[in-house]
Amino acid sequence: MKTINIAIDGPAGAGKSTIAKMVSKELGYIYVDTGALYRTIALYITENDIADEDIEASLGKAQVSLKFIDGAQRVFLGDRDVSDLIRTPEISMAASRTSAIPAVRAYLFETQQKIARENNIIMDGRDIGTVVLPNADVKIYLTASAEERANRRFKELSEKPDCPTYQEILDDIIKRDYQDMHREIAPLKQAEDAVLVDTTELNLEESAAAIIKIINEKTG
Ligand code: C5P
Repeated sequence: MKTINIAIDGPAGAGKSTIAKMVSKELGYIYVDTGALYRTIALYITENDIADEDIEASLGKAQVSLKFIDGAQRVFLGDRDVSDLIRTPEISMAASRTSAIPAVRAYLFETQQKIARENNIIMDGRDIGTVVLPNADVKIYLTASAEERANRRFKELSEKPDCPTYQEILDDIIKRDYQDMHREIAPLKQAEDAVLVDTTELNLEESAAAIIKIINEKTG
């Protein structure tokens, strides 16, 4: 049976994962966060102190896998659940750096395509509509101004100890966007047939509603 595939791409902190989770719950689809896969590879490389020239050969030993527990995605290195460990600013930056390595992208490509072949999914990332699922039923490019994205992240983190400053968060976002948009392989860009959704002036509910409307229009 043909599965329905929805691709959501966009820059860091645009709200992709929060909004995609809301939409997938509403539609009964599986939500796949591909950034978590790149973060897990980055954690593996960092923990094992693997030099750039040894990354390709070491990937075979990494054993990265996804599991869906009570409908939520968890990511594993071997049998260790690393879903929470990968959410640090250091791993965000390391993931952006290591995701530019062709062997890393090739290693994760089949994992992503297989999930999409077997399930109705909403998959978010940077190259889902352009490279991983070029025939996706619906493609969304979700964005917001860098200042608004930094503002949201700052509010989210401001309760936590060691919260970075607004300026540090903004600098990280701008740097990561630049790296993701300017790498040679699978750079972040809007697919020609993607619908642009700018959430700078929208709250989460309005953003999710805008996306559900697009999906309903495209999938009938
Ligand atoms: O989405 P998230 O911020 O968790 O992604 C972390 C990093 O992984 C991104 O900055 C990007 O470099 C990389 N990534 C990618 N392709 C994807 C998803 C994430 O290159 N499909």
